[in-house]
Amino acid sequence: MGDHFQTIVDLDATAADAPRLAERVLGVLVAEGVVLPERTDGPFGQYLPGPHWHKAAGPRDTDWAPTDGLTAHTGRTVFHGGQGEAEWARCPRCTATIRLLTDEYDWIDAAWEPYERAMSRWRETGEAAVTCPGCTAAVPLAEWTWAGDYYAFGSLGFEFWNWPELGEAFRGLVADALGGHRTTLVWGKF
Ligand SMILES: [Zn+2]
Repeated sequence: MGDHFQTIVDLDATAADAPRLAERVLGVLVAEGVVLPERTDGPFGQYLPGPHWHKAAGPRDTDWAPTDGLTAHTGRTVFHGGQGEAEWARCPRCTATIRLLTDEYDWIDAAWEPYERAMSRWRETGEAAVTCPGCTAAVPLAEWTWAGDYYAFGSLGFEFWNWPELGEAFRGLVADALGGHRTTLVWGKF
């Protein structure tokens, strides 16, 4: 079956704020009994499920317990969906859809290259844009949408390994602990 993850990515946190916000969210999750307070060194998450892990699960998905833990990532990170790739990117201004893979799942190098370059620049500086071939606007990397919500760009992410599908209420709890920041969910397998 492999291992799967779900990462709640904070889209608003700065790299400077991320460690403090991570502590705050971990504090809430420990207080709620969702994760245990002790930090472990397992390959799949540092904070193991607590007695009330089910608070994190959606209403349809509480019949199996998580088998691994939670890792909080701080610092500028290109969060992505693991195995596979984004088949396309879409411009938020003109909705042009730029195919990044062929039907045979080969890279379309000329299409992918500007995004790849922008991702490196974003990792280094926190800012990058890709010129849309449709409307010629320089669109910030973080504003593009991706097939399967494959990418998210942020400085804080909470990565749950082998947990049931995270519920809306739980994602709301995390967003509240983040001071109402916008969040998105990236998921995938390894
Ligand atoms: Zn466009």
